[in-house]
Amino acid sequence: DSGNSTQSRHNSNINQLNRPKAEHFARRQNIEQQRKSLPIAAAEKLLLEEVRNNDTLIIVGETGSGKTTQLPQYLNNGGFCRDGGIIGITQPRRVAAVTVAKRVAEECGVALGQKVGYAIRFEDVTSSSTRIKYMTDGLLLREALLDSYLSKYSVIIVDEAHERTVHTDVLLGLLKTVQKTRSKGVSDAADIDHREVKNGMLLEKHNGSEVASTMKHCRGKKLSPLKIIIMSASLDARVFSEYFGGARAVHVLGRQYPVDILYTRQPETDYVDAALITIFQIHIEEGPGDILVFLTGQEEIESVERLVHERLPQLSESKRKLLTFPIFSSLPSEKQMKVFLPAPIGFRKVILATNIAETSVTIPGIKYVIDPGMVKVRTYEASTGIEPLIVVKTSKAQALQRSGRAGREGPGKCYRLYPESEFDKLKDSTTPEIKRCNLSNVILHLKALGIDDIIGFDFIEQPDRISIVKSMELLFLLGALTDESKLSDPVGQKMARLPLDPIYSKALIIASEFNCLEEMLIVVAMLSVESIFYAPREKLEESRNALKSFSSPEGDHLTFLKVYRASDEFLQKSNLVNSKEKAEKNLRKWCKENFINSRSLKHARDIHSQIRRNAEQMGLLVTSCGDDMLPFRRCLAASFFLNAALKQPDGTYRALSSGLTVQIHPSSVLFRMKPENSNRSSMGAKRREHMHIFAPYRWGTCS
Ligand code: ADP
Ligand code: MG
Repeated sequence: DSGNSTQSRHNSNINQLNRPKAEHFARRQNIEQQRKSLPIAAAEKLLLEEVRNNDTLIIVGETGSGKTTQLPQYLNNGGFCRDGGIIGITQPRRVAAVTVAKRVAEECGVALGQKVGYAIRFEDVTSSSTRIKYMTDGLLLREALLDSYLSKYSVIIVDEAHERTVHTDVLLGLLKTVQKTRSKGVSDAADIDHREVKNGMLLEKHNGSEVASTMKHCRGKKLSPLKIIIMSASLDARVFSEYFGGARAVHVLGRQYPVDILYTRQPETDYVDAALITIFQIHIEEGPGDILVFLTGQEEIESVERLVHERLPQLSESKRKLLTFPIFSSLPSEKQMKVFLPAPIGFRKVILATNIAETSVTIPGIKYVIDPGMVKVRTYEASTGIEPLIVVKTSKAQALQRSGRAGREGPGKCYRLYPESEFDKLKDSTTPEIKRCNLSNVILHLKALGIDDIIGFDFIEQPDRISIVKSMELLFLLGALTDESKLSDPVGQKMARLPLDPIYSKALIIASEFNCLEEMLIVVAMLSVESIFYAPREKLEESRNALKSFSSPEGDHLTFLKVYRASDEFLQKSNLVNSKEKAEKNLRKWCKENFINSRSLKHARDIHSQIRRNAEQMGLLVTSCGDDMLPFRRCLAASFFLNAALKQPDGTYRALSSGLTVQIHPSSVLFRMKPENSNRSSMGAKRREHMHIFAPYRWGTCS
């Protein structure tokens, strides 16, 4: 029956290895055909020639033309992995690295992690046979800490360079130096001495055996030249070309069908609601074709998904063939892959995506795009040190990329949920992240690489001086830098080793000294994921009651700790009497009953085991403070001090570092649980009773 065959089609796409031979063969043929029909396919020979003739090449091409999935395969076939060299492809986003690697492994007919693999923070799916490696730009930067010449790579492709993430910008600067040194054929002796001292110390603390092998790796080493390829979806290659001394740029022509752009007559007050209405309007009035909706984050996506399902039964039976597929970074990867599957016959797919679908991944079948014109970005106010995630208007370039998604396979339509006059007011392009983010991470990283002169570093675009100074100040306050602005030993060295925000790293290091690292590892893992709790609008009261049983009057950090421990206890008990799968399933049920986001919790558990391993490798002592939470809270205060606020007589809070008036975020347990009723005994002096440390993303400023 048709239901079953749909089901099996879905399964077979995911699990290609268990498929009957004939089906497998048909799918391979289909993939070959798809590959050949991509716009980039016609340029294969030419591109290989260009890469051979140019050490640095810039490739500009429309999204979906096949750059990310095809070029690494061409290079592999063209002999660029000879002598064991690896082709590394960096992506600003984890989702892109993972989904593209899976796709390419399938195209090559190999198991993921063999010839084709990926590595992202906290997850490494590669092996010694990996030749095409997708990874995040941040991850490659971390690899440079261990192998400063990135010597295992023969080619490094910096993909999605137009996104200009801070990691991409720093990576470009680093690659420039690495390429120069490698072109000399042998490692620069002076340079190595210099690095050995720095990196030697850095690694020594970490793991003896690793020091030895890494150093052997670098010393007096013969180096082969490095090819750098920069790929971008923006047509303006000039900035990259100039940065690399007039490097050659080539354009890959795409195929773009006309897209009708529609605007609203009036500005929309609620773009989520407007998007919902537009989904149904398209579904009822327009011909076949899938819909892609750009939303700003997981919560928005999940709420639209719920609302679509709620309203669907109001349609006539024949109109209910609408399926929703979310895609965002914290979605488990097997669910991420589902958006690529074709809709069953007669059904329309609605893809609810963050701006990951703007240029990073191309989903086939889209004919309609709904663009509310919003995007969530991290910002940084150097004057206050606050780093809020805020929803802002897209740039014109982003709006054009989004509408372009509708015209890949035929003429399409894009519904911009704002008036045309608003479009003209948008900024031409997005400001590079380095101009609007906290640089403490970057500075720590550069210092660990032996680059001490941050202001003199050859950035593609110089960050503002005030940001650099403020970020150095934070690192200094955290104890990572000495008076001479050098990386301190051991705190700064240790902080650079950990793949975490400097504040989190500091929290772990100090907690190990005060015997509460076990607790801090849990809390840092919980802080590293998107919302642990979920409160559906229609069950607000119920979810609040559920939260009460975990709420700690001492704040969100201790609440997170309780949740984690309760879940852990539940899982361990369940494990005793059940299979692993059953126990995991029970845990998901437990999460649902307690209004906990099981996905986020799972992610936190994974991160926890990773950073615990990191901490142990570094020789940090993992012990617990038992029932006495005072040392733990002191450690929080000693690391998250920039987030401390003091309660004022009028009931408002004042941030200690900036003097700004702030309020408790509604999602905090302290929002309902009045902090003044908290258990006073452990806080000591009376004046201190009203000081609270909030989780960093919980800031809400009063205007
Ligand atoms: P570009 O990097 O130029 O934007 P890509 O290489 O990402 O282009 O995509 C090329 C083609 O591969 C697109 O047609 C896209 O739909 C397809 N594709 C990419 N990933 C998948 C996937 N996981 N499943 C099916 N098709 C995919
Ligand atoms: Mg791409």
